[in-house]
Amino acid sequence: MDCIFCKIVAGEVPGDFVYRDEDVAAFRDVNPVAPTHVLIVPTKHIPSLVGLSDSDLPLIERMVKVGNDLAKKEGIADKGYRLVINVGKDGTQLVQHLHLHLIGGRQLSGRIG
Ligand code: AMP
Repeated sequence: MDCIFCKIVAGEVPGDFVYRDEDVAAFRDVNPVAPTHVLIVPTKHIPSLVGLSDSDLPLIERMVKVGNDLAKKEGIADKGYRLVINVGKDGTQLVQHLHLHLIGGRQLSGRIG
């Protein structure tokens, strides 16, 4: 399967890992938009939040927990951060493998919502 995040998880493409277990992996974004920019992904290929099965819902919980734990580890939890999932074309999702962005370490702009 031609998926860059699957290749990173499989070790076929280098990744700067900050966490990994059987179900979830986290590595630094190659093009960071803030001092901390980590991508948290399921190790199995799930293209997007669209069509996520009920049985895969617990993975989202795991990904959020890893994101929160990494925010603490990176020292940004107290000042705040974003956990973002881009979905589909209008949501500006570029890589078709579900991922949660952990972004922080500076005052973020462009408030959404
Ligand atoms: P999204 O727009 O939500 O799909 O974000 C995809 C993210 O993946 C972008 O922030 C890219 O910089 C990042 N990215 C793409 N290729 C790699 C890679 N090989 N290693 C780490 N991050 C990557």
